[in-house]
Amino acid sequence: MSRGLGNRPVFQPQLVHQGETVAGLNAQFLADVAEYSLEFRCRDCVYFAPSRDACTLGWTVEALNADAIEILDAKGEPAFCKAFEPTGS
Ligand code: SF4
Repeated sequence: MSRGLGNRPVFQPQLVHQGETVAGLNAQFLADVAEYSLEFRCRDCVYFAPSRDACTLGWTVEALNADAIEILDAKGEPAFCKAFEPTGS
């Protein structure tokens, strides 16, 4: 796979810009989740099978079902699923 700066794949944009921190962006995301009632976790996705605690598309679900609400992991990489489809409930 082609890599960009550091160890980041070239198709993955830099999400932490100058003057920002991972902790700060996660704190802002936490505030946005509360303000706009954002749904982004597997349990809110049409592809999630609660009876098997699994994604029917085969993705891992542990990170998206953790108690912590974070949009970026410790390395500043996205911690969300692009295949998410809201249940609308
Ligand atoms: S598609 Fe993504 S958000 Fe939906 S259940 Fe699978 S891993 Fe979770």
